[in-house]
Amino acid sequence: MGQNRIADAHPLQQGDKSETAHYMRGKQARALRMLTTNPFDDDKLREECGVFGIWGAETASAVVALGLHALQHRGQEAAGITSWDGHNFHSHRAQGHVAGNFDKDEVIRRLAGTASIGHVRYSTTGDTSLRNVQPLFAELSSGGFAVAHNGNISNAMKLRRDLNRRGSIFQSTSDTEVIIHLVATSTYRTLLDRFIDALKQVEGAYSLVCLTPEGMLACRDPLGIRPLVMGRLGDSYIFASETVALDVVGATYIRSVEPGELIIVSARGVKSLRPFAPVRPRPCIFEHVYFSRPDSIVDGSSVYSVRKRIGAELAIENPVEADYVVPVPDSGVPAAIGYAQQSGIPFELGIIRSHYVGRTFIQPGDQVRHLGVKLKHNANSALIAGKSIVLIDDSIVRGTTSLKIVQMLRDAGAREVHMRIASPPTRHSCFYGVDTPERAKLLAAQMNVAEMADYINADSLSFLSIDGLYRALGEDIRDEAQPQHCDACFTGDYPTRLTDQEESESTDQLALLAERYA
Ligand code: SF4
Repeated sequence: MGQNRIADAHPLQQGDKSETAHYMRGKQARALRMLTTNPFDDDKLREECGVFGIWGAETASAVVALGLHALQHRGQEAAGITSWDGHNFHSHRAQGHVAGNFDKDEVIRRLAGTASIGHVRYSTTGDTSLRNVQPLFAELSSGGFAVAHNGNISNAMKLRRDLNRRGSIFQSTSDTEVIIHLVATSTYRTLLDRFIDALKQVEGAYSLVCLTPEGMLACRDPLGIRPLVMGRLGDSYIFASETVALDVVGATYIRSVEPGELIIVSARGVKSLRPFAPVRPRPCIFEHVYFSRPDSIVDGSSVYSVRKRIGAELAIENPVEADYVVPVPDSGVPAAIGYAQQSGIPFELGIIRSHYVGRTFIQPGDQVRHLGVKLKHNANSALIAGKSIVLIDDSIVRGTTSLKIVQMLRDAGAREVHMRIASPPTRHSCFYGVDTPERAKLLAAQMNVAEMADYINADSLSFLSIDGLYRALGEDIRDEAQPQHCDACFTGDYPTRLTDQEESESTDQLALLAERYA
């Protein structure tokens, strides 16, 4: 499609260097940045949500809790489960991790019934945001309706304004609630027709699992931007954001929910509908780069294998002589293995990551933050000293982690540090349910590659090309006329209208705006 390109107006390529003037240069400035960089900030794009649902299991909510635990990497700030026992819905939603909220028998016992859906969320914090924790629930004229959503509706603000004018009263500030109100106000007769009518009015990304007295509904937007898979556990059917959640509960992977497919599971069996006009799917390419767990299968491809092929493509495109290939753990590991195998340079663990440091750890003040850096990552100096290193990471967002890690390797005695990135430069914001810094904070939107190398103090820096990324996914090349994936954060080529953004020129996604509308 490619009709919604936001101009890739690289300021430096246009000869205007004023936008980078604020970046400090030189060793002293770098040291200062080290002091003021939050050691707990891993400088990654953050996937917003994971969803899980099961229909027809004795211990449905216990299975959902396990499934959500396997999806915790997709959202770590809140979790919720809603169940249906044939008469009543039961719900428990809370801030925090799945473990801690759903590890108590009495909580799971209260979530009674043989059908249950759940959601993990990365997003809002603060007292007012509990109402945004999903699954969202409403009593409609047809009965209860619970929804868990992964993605972001890119015309949610406009739809919300229209619904407000027609009298809808919103309980949350979530884009997902727009779907509930569209279902509630639809003039169609059956719940299924109302649901389809609602989805035909929304733009953007949605993988949905909904629970109603009539059955479970699972749906993926026509472009299939966010993933959703279907599995089986005995006689039960499961829907989940990633196959790893099926593995963890002992379920069998059946297939991906197809882009634009709506599956209904009920006492009458399983039914698949295609309610939307067919379009060429454009699933998120970043799922393969970073979001999904490496042990998942995304749209038929092993994430681990794709990441290794990405590393091999990176080695072919950007060779360098070095003693060791070292990953930034954990996200750079599969690509580093691929780079090492392709280049013949030995793979070594030159950086060790502590798995016991998190945001709950006491936050150090500015004076000691440079010490805090080493709490999370520490250079293996016995290996590194005097060596030339190829350092592999999946992406650079603001550059804060790269800056810290390169300096750490230099402090450990590295002779040279050559950074290789397993994706193209991230120059654009995502509007499909991924938390991206505003464009001005994306390093690649402000600097060319040579300046980025200087900024992070690397001897050299290279990125995988967009075609190299597509080759790693088994394509010959990116189809410019009809791209095979959403790759907008690299190319600026958005696969849907961005109505809210066009109207407000803001980078906000309603999914991320709890406090503003609270
Ligand atoms: S903009 Fe990037 S992160 Fe967002 S859906 Fe597209 S490829 Fe994925």
